[in-house]
Formats: sequence, C-alpha cells, structure tokens
Amino acid sequence: MRATLRAAKEQLDQDSSLTNCRGSLVMPADSEQDDAALAARYERSFRSLLWRLRPRRLENHIERMMDIAHRANLPHEVALMGVHHALRQRIIARLVRQHEASRGRTRALGAQAAVGVRSQRRRVLEKSLPAAPVNGSPDFHCDCGLGGLARWLRAAGYDARFWLQIDDDELIASTLRSNAVLLTTDGPLMMRNAVAWGLIPALLVPLSVGKHEQYDYVMRTLCLPRKASRCMACGGALSSVAKELVRERIPPRTYPWCHDYYLCSRCGKLFWHGTHWQRVEKRLNSPLARCPGDGNRASNS
Ligand SMILES: [Zn+2]
Repeated sequence: MRATLRAAKEQLDQDSSLTNCRGSLVMPADSEQDDAALAARYERSFRSLLWRLRPRRLENHIERMMDIAHRANLPHEVALMGVHHALRQRIIARLVRQHEASRGRTRALGAQAAVGVRSQRRRVLEKSLPAAPVNGSPDFHCDCGLGGLARWLRAAGYDARFWLQIDDDELIASTLRSNAVLLTTDGPLMMRNAVAWGLIPALLVPLSVGKHEQYDYVMRTLCLPRKASRCMACGGALSSVAKELVRERIPPRTYPWCHDYYLCSRCGKLFWHGTHWQRVEKRLNSPLARCPGDGNRASNS
C-alpha cells in the first residue's frame, strides 16, 4: 500500500483540478473542518468503496486505510486523499476482474473483444465511483420499507436517509451521487445493473422480520461499531447543551431529575435520556448486532 500511496500522491500532483499554477497541492475548501469530521467523511467513503467487494471484516479494512493515512509522512488530508485514490483504483480493477470471472464473457468473446469489454467496464466504473468523499453524504440510503431501521441506525451513530416514497430509478441515481450504502428489501433492485456491476454498494435486508432484527442484521453483516447516537428523527449529529439554555423546552416533570440534554445540529430537536433510554441502549448493544467473533466491541456512545 505504501507504493500505491506514493503513486497516488504523484497522480494527485499531476491532477490539474487539485493543483495550483506552481503545481503544489491545494487543500480542499472544507479543510478547516475538524479532524473528526474529516475522518468521518473518509470512513464513510472507504466503507462505500470496500463494501462492493464484500470483505468479511469491513470495519477492520476501514481502520487499516485510516491507519495507513495516519502513518504517512504527509499532511493528514493529503494522505487520506492519496489512500482514497489508491483504494478506488484497486476496487475498480477488482470489479473489472470479478465481472469477467462471473460472466465468463471474455472467453466467449475472444481476446480482442474482451479488451474492449474490459475497457468499457473500467470507463463506466471510473465515471460512477466518486473520486473523492461526497460532502454531506449519509452513511446509508434506506428504501421506503425501512423507515424503522433508519431510525435505529441513527441511534447507533450512523446517518441514514429514508424516503416515504421514491421510485427505484431515483433511489439508485441518488445513491450514485453519494457515498451511501443502499439498504433495501427489494430483491429485484439488487439485480439491477448498477448494483450487480458494483456502481453502487448495496445490502439486501430481510423483509419478513421486524426493525430490531433488521438492525441486528445490518450491524452484524457490516460489522458496524456503535458510535455516539445521532438524531433519530433526521440523522443529524447531537451536541451537548447546557440545561439552562433550553429550560423552556424541557417538560416540568423532567427538569428536576435529568441533567444532560442534546440538540440536533440539523433539525434542532431537543433530546435527553429519559426513563426509556436504558431499554433503547440495551437493544442497540444487543449481542445479535455484533460482528461475529467480535466479543464486546467498544462503544463510544
Ligand atoms: Zn434532527
């Protein structure tokens, strides 16, 4: 990976969209964002890229990518960009090879035609996979049947977007413009070319079970660690707020005993850990939601 990272930096140096007139790297406009936001954006993008290959321990691979960037002797954001570029190229190459292997098309077509098919596939993937993390992308896009799952994923710390009504074409187009992983209960949707060719990452979620079991399935299958809870209504990040500042919004019977309050950065909704929160926490940390063999995965919520 060290060699690919070096190659990626050279590629970045040559890319006119990322260089100024003297050829030195120009930091992206949002470089003033704090490290946590930067890391979250890249982690989301790495997850989106890697899930196309269905690795067994997805989060371990993401951690490895972050670690490589952390150890690189480069400014952190430049290192992340380099790792992202190198990983994207590897994913594209693997998807091209996988497609050939699964279809056996190259053997049937003959050598010259196979080169054409391979080049076309590569061009489609190059055009479709975002070349950099998409600003404002959620972690997940949930189809119309997965509103309950979206709320639980938000409580577990993931930004999940959900539509009450959206047709398949729009759902796919919207996911193509993001770094989200598509969660769907629709089997035929998984057969669409955009999913089958790896243009978007997707997971088929069981339809016949409840939202809690769907939550367990997604957390376990993607090996997702628990993170700090987000707003269950919209997926926005929650930040602690002084009790006195929101006094008029707190029910009179809650005010005397509850001291920790949180505001959603997106919709402004006020949250506190009421008497029901222990039950929610217990459900969120269900052993059935853990990555197999993971034991007690650390929670930072
Ligand atoms: Zn909100």
